[in-house]
Amino acid sequence: MKSGRPCAAGLQKWSRLLALKITDECINCDVCEPECPNEAIYQGVEFYEIHPLKCTECVGHFDTPQCVEVCPVECIPKDPDQEETHEQLLQKFLNLSEENAN
Ligand code: SF4
Ligand code: SF4
Repeated sequence: MKSGRPCAAGLQKWSRLLALKITDECINCDVCEPECPNEAIYQGVEFYEIHPLKCTECVGHFDTPQCVEVCPVECIPKDPDQEETHEQLLQKFLNLSEENAN
């Protein structure tokens, strides 16, 4: 019989944020690229892609991921292979800001 109490691993999982990725459902409409404050979105071989080292999920700029807001086909889900905490995303934003200032 399963316990109704969440396990520690489960709590840790839900307390994390995940980086975003663009799936092959992308229709190459080009709407998301100019909305990205980190210039993390680029035209890939077949469809648009997100550079994981540049995407902060808009942390530091906006309350919500802007690409997800504008995508007409909702093809930008969380990427389970690129788990990042809010603190990591914020640190990435600070690092990118410092790089851009130099
Ligand atoms: S979530 Fe924000 S930073 Fe990441 S790709 Fe989308 S618009 Fe760019
Ligand atoms: S907004 Fe969505 S469909 Fe359009 S290019 Fe970006 S990911 Fe692809």
